[in-house]
Amino acid sequence: MKCKKCGMKASVNMRQHKLALCRDHYLEWVPEQTERFIKKYEMFTRDEKILVAVSGGKDSLALWDILTRLGYRADGLYLGLGIDGGIGYSHASQRLAEKFAHEHDLKLHAVDIEKEYGQSIPVLSEMSHRGHGKPCAVCGLTKRHEMNRIARDLGYDVLATGHNLDDEAAVLFGNTLMWDANYLLRQGPVLPATEGLARKVKPLCRFYEREMTAYCLLRGIEYIYEECPFAEGSTSIYYKELLNQLETARPGAKLTFYLRFLEARKSGDLFVEKNVGQAHLHPCPKCGQPTSAPGLCSFCRMIEKVNSMEGVPGSSS
Ligand code: SF4
Ligand code: ZN
Repeated sequence: MKCKKCGMKASVNMRQHKLALCRDHYLEWVPEQTERFIKKYEMFTRDEKILVAVSGGKDSLALWDILTRLGYRADGLYLGLGIDGGIGYSHASQRLAEKFAHEHDLKLHAVDIEKEYGQSIPVLSEMSHRGHGKPCAVCGLTKRHEMNRIARDLGYDVLATGHNLDDEAAVLFGNTLMWDANYLLRQGPVLPATEGLARKVKPLCRFYEREMTAYCLLRGIEYIYEECPFAEGSTSIYYKELLNQLETARPGAKLTFYLRFLEARKSGDLFVEKNVGQAHLHPCPKCGQPTSAPGLCSFCRMIEKVNSMEGVPGSSS
């Protein structure tokens, strides 16, 4: 297989694009494409301050690297979740995020949830009895809340996450199986800012996961290979496996599934927007972020509940 641009030996073959590229041309192609998506979906401009949510995994580090190479002003945010899982998951991922920031002379804000709120994610989850024994519900809630809080407090215009096409297609698949109109209408490369919430963007949403793996390997970016130990057996991994089977049989199926959805949503054909979408929101009296719950937002309610349980021992795991 030869590089389509220079005829040298190809390093990456993208069947869905009928495109094979050598190392150098691949490392040029990825930022070019990213820039195209940033413009196409009007994600942000070079004057805006971007906060990249960095987990230490390949996608978020690749995103940070690409934005920096493109000349955007992007700082990183690492959230310490306090997840060990027998592999020191949080410590290892934080070390890699810090290493990347240090080597590229970039600014990384590190926020430790346990220091900030008194308990790690697994303990918060156990104490608040949410999520049926898995901390993912509490983890997701906390990450969203903290990313918003920090973006707002530190004056960032936009919050960028490293979700790739495999992530987005799996979420879309799940929402479609449920015909969840509210979620479907909110899923996309850009979630506009609303009162109290920063704009959210996903510049990598059109790249396959393996394209990001290839990018990190070819760029020499060291990332955490292990998934979070709590991800095992999750529905989203199951959906990804199903979609991978589809992709093997029909290269490009995943991309078409996602892009056609974006087109349908944009054209307004998908649902009658006025019937769904925004529930009535008001600012949480404690943290100021918008919520539809009466009184405090779900995050502040969870923290209050945990704080009121004085003397309850923490997790034994
Ligand atoms: Fe959080 Fe891990 Fe669950 Fe992901 S898999 S939501 S990082 S606990
Ligand atoms: Zn709140």
